[in-house]
Amino acid sequence: MIIAIDGPSGTGKSTVAKGVAKKLGYTFFDTGAMYRSVAWMIRKEQIDPQDREKIKKQLPLFSYEIKSDAQGMRRYFACGTDVTEAIREPAISALASQIAAYEEVRALLVQIQRNFGTHRNAVFEGRDMGTVVFPKAELKIFLTARAEIRAQRRLNELFLKFPELASSLQFDQILQEITARDHTDSTRSISPLKQASDAVLIDTSDLSIEEVILKILTLANWKKQYPPMKIFYRIVYWITRTFFKLFFRLQIHGLEHFRPGAGIIASNHTSNYDPPVLSISCPEEVHFLAKESLFHVPLLGRLIRRLNSHPVSRSGSDASTFKQVIQLLQEGKKIILFPEGNRSPDGTLQPIERGLAFIAQKAVCPIFPAYIQGSFAAWPRVRRWPRLSGSIQVVFGTPIDSELCMGQSKKEKEEFMTTQTTSALKNLKAWLEEGAHGTPP
Ligand code: C5P
Repeated sequence: MIIAIDGPSGTGKSTVAKGVAKKLGYTFFDTGAMYRSVAWMIRKEQIDPQDREKIKKQLPLFSYEIKSDAQGMRRYFACGTDVTEAIREPAISALASQIAAYEEVRALLVQIQRNFGTHRNAVFEGRDMGTVVFPKAELKIFLTARAEIRAQRRLNELFLKFPELASSLQFDQILQEITARDHTDSTRSISPLKQASDAVLIDTSDLSIEEVILKILTLANWKKQYPPMKIFYRIVYWITRTFFKLFFRLQIHGLEHFRPGAGIIASNHTSNYDPPVLSISCPEEVHFLAKESLFHVPLLGRLIRRLNSHPVSRSGSDASTFKQVIQLLQEGKKIILFPEGNRSPDGTLQPIERGLAFIAQKAVCPIFPAYIQGSFAAWPRVRRWPRLSGSIQVVFGTPIDSELCMGQSKKEKEEFMTTQTTSALKNLKAWLEEGAHGTPP
C-alpha cells in the first residue's frame, strides 16, 4: 500500500509521515530531501540556479542514498557526501523550491521515487505524491495549516537545528519566506502543489502530531476494509469522475468522515447530476434507488442496474421500498438517499422526510450527511438538457450514529435523527459557502 502525503511546509508532514510509517511498519520517504539534495549539489558546484543548461548537464552526476547511522537515524547522502544537516539550511529551502520548478529536475526525481515505491508498502511525503508520482496511491492525504502556525513551527524547528542562527531568525521573515515558497510551489507550471481530488484534507492547525497520525492510521485501516469495486463499476466510476473533474472542476471534501460498512448517504437533491456526482465522490461502491421507468429505457436500464441502482415503482408502497433499502443496509452496503423526497425546484434545501430516520433505526446504521453545491446551476429541474461546464463541490459531514439515541422511544429517535440530519446539511452548506476551510463539520 502506498500512502501519499502532500502539503505545504510547516504542516508537520515529515513528522506525521514518519510516525505513520513507523506504526504501520512501512518505509518512509521524504521527497523534499531529494529536491533539497539537488539544490545542495547545485550550490556546491556554484552553478547559477537560473542556468538551466548547466543544471541539465550536472543532473546525470547526481546520486542519492539513504543510510541509517548507529542510532538508527536516517542520513541523506548526495553525491557521496552526508548532507543530512546541510540540506535543512534556510538558503537551501528557497533554492530547492526554485529548482523544483524545472522539468528536468522533476523528471529525474519522480523516476527515482516511482522506482522506490514499486512493490513496497511505503509512506511518501512531498508536494506531488498524490497528483503526479502516485496517482493511484491507495490513500492520499493533503495536510494544511494556517500560515502563522506553519511559520511558528518552522521557526521552532530552525531554533532547534541551528541554535547559532537564533538571533537572526525573525518570525515575520519566516512567515514571508514560507508564503513566498508556497506561492512558487503552487503556481509553477509542472506538478504544482495542490490537493488531489481524491485526497483527504486534514487541517493540522489545532491538532497535535499524535492526533494527525491517529487520523491517518484510522483512514488507512478503513481503506483496507473497503471491498474492491467490480471491474465494470470501476471503469464507469473513473470515466465519470474524469468527466466531472474536467468539466465541473469537481472538488470532494470530508472524506475523513467516510468509513466502511453499512450506511445511508443522505444528501440534498437539486439536479439529475446528483446521483452520479455523489457516487463517484465515495471511495467505495454505493447503491441507489431509481424510478422503475428508467429501467425500461434501452441501454440506460442495463447500465444503471449494473451500477447498483434498484427500481422503485411509483405505484408500489413505501413499505416495499423501505424493506428493500433495509435489506441492502443489513448486507453491509452503502445507499444514497435524497431525504427531501424530490429534487428541489429552486435549489434550496427542502424539509427532510422522516422515512430516512425510520430506515436508519431499523437497519441500525449511521447516516452520512452530504451536501452537493453547484449541480443545480449545472442542471436545474427546469432545464431539459444539462450544461456541460461549471463548478461542483461535494462535502461529507460527521456521521450521525443511530446508537446515539439508545433508550429513547421510536418516535423520539426518529425526531432526533431527522433534526440532526437537517442541521448537518445546513452546516455543510454554510461550510462550503464560507470557503470550505479546514475540516467539514
Ligand atoms: O518538503 P520540503 O520543505 O523539504 O521541500 C523542499 C522543496 O522541495 C519544496 O519547497 C518544494 O519546492 C520541493 N518539493 C517538490 N516536490 C516534492 C517535494 C518537495 O517540489 N515532492
